[in-house]
Amino acid sequence: MRKQRRVPQRTCIGCRTVRPKRDLVRIVRTPQGVIQLDVTGKQSGRGAYICPSRACIEQAFKRKLLEKALETSIDTETIERLRGEVAKLQ
Ligand SMILES: [Zn+2]
Repeated sequence: MRKQRRVPQRTCIGCRTVRPKRDLVRIVRTPQGVIQLDVTGKQSGRGAYICPSRACIEQAFKRKLLEKALETSIDTETIERLRGEVAKLQ
């Protein structure tokens, strides 16, 4: 095992800010094709990181950044659900 002192960093897909991974929310597309928040950060599937802020979420939806990051199309229903889930984190 390597000794790693550096905090893992990820880029928010909304504002492109690089932040410690734990300050960001992971949104994952599961192998079953479900798009959901991954609060553990350990769920398998393709993931994207975003600040838990309304502004970043809206930016990601409006500009289809989340769809690009997850390489899938996301319907309005899913967007509404994610919006609600992120709102609960604030
Ligand atoms: Zn952001």
